Amino acid sequence: MDPNEFDFESRIMSSSYEPEDQGNDNILRPHSLDEYIGQSKAKENLDILIRAAKLRGECLDHVLLYGPPGLGKTTLSAIIATEMGVNLRITSGPAIEKKGDLVALLTNLGEGDVLFIDEIHRMPRTIEEILYPAMEDFAVDFVIGNGPAARSIHLPLAKFTLIGATTRAGQLSTPLRDRFGVQMRLELYTPEELATIVNRSAGILDVPIDEDGALEIASRSRGTPRIANRLLKRVRDYAQVRGDGRIDLKIAQAALKMLEIDELGLDNTDRRMLETIIRFYNGGPVGLEALAATIGEEAITLEDVCEPYLLQIGFLARTLRGRMVTRMGYEHLGIPYTGGAETSAVPVEQIAMTEE
Ligand code: ADP
Repeated sequence: MDPNEFDFESRIMSSSYEPEDQGNDNILRPHSLDEYIGQSKAKENLDILIRAAKLRGECLDHVLLYGPPGLGKTTLSAIIATEMGVNLRITSGPAIEKKGDLVALLTNLGEGDVLFIDEIHRMPRTIEEILYPAMEDFAVDFVIGNGPAARSIHLPLAKFTLIGATTRAGQLSTPLRDRFGVQMRLELYTPEELATIVNRSAGILDVPIDEDGALEIASRSRGTPRIANRLLKRVRDYAQVRGDGRIDLKIAQAALKMLEIDELGLDNTDRRMLETIIRFYNGGPVGLEALAATIGEEAITLEDVCEPYLLQIGFLARTLRGRMVTRMGYEHLGIPYTGGAETSAVPVEQIAMTEE
């Protein structure tokens, strides 16, 4: 296979933020809880928290949002700030390189402001420690200078809300995780919810689309709004060049076929992951690192991008000894089932609970 072709493919179906989402992400972001589609449990909880905090005139408790990329964590934090009527500052764990970076961010926050830290699990532990007193007592303590001239400084902060986002709560250190009063897991979206999102986005982008076309894009978007919006834009391009600009079922199917995204939203990376487990490891179990090395993909990509969806649709089972392809996975690839995943797999929920 042409490696460039492969790169192209994996980028489209990646649930992480990609350069092609620039601009797109902002225009299409919902601005209020009412506009935010799906995630009814998280929304209801947040609605109550926001109203209660406003009634008491207090700032919102610190919130930890976890779930795969592209599910709306950044969007939700912006909505929280808007609904609370405060400013939002956005940063990410890897962007905070020195203690001073974090201290500067914290000391610049106004009363009640929201600080959103994406990929918070990637913040170095020594820097993370600054957050403990900041979150608990709204103060930072740090030392300036060296040796005998060193001085310890205690700086009070304005009361603020920290919203942390991570792909998995289990990746966070316990002291940090425990300081979040509210912890919410975002779930993958149903095709119907995604179809509503596709229709809403098509309206904003001024693209004519019918119900079947929207549902077709939605059901191939692996439960992720960011992918749904990206596929909508690709299908729109196809409709403009090969059709009259309208998106219906036929145009959506033809465009997605050209992009090699199958009817369940699997792309070449997913298929290769399943096929490699079957062909090289007899259906599994296989450890993630070994699998990643065989495919030539990063383990984190397989874990964060491919796995959540393959687990959700029941093509993959995560057992204590590694990953296994299920009978349904074999059947989808048209390979006769020979493995034992059905009988020996530990239920996914059980493992998810021990990891989180
Ligand atoms: P995350 O921070 O979890 O990676 P984002 O908040 O950046 O995800 O969301 C990615 C894109 O998906 C946003 O541009 C937004 O347009 C869209 N999106 C996410 N959640 C929703 C939702 N519930 N309703 C409508 N659009 C959504």
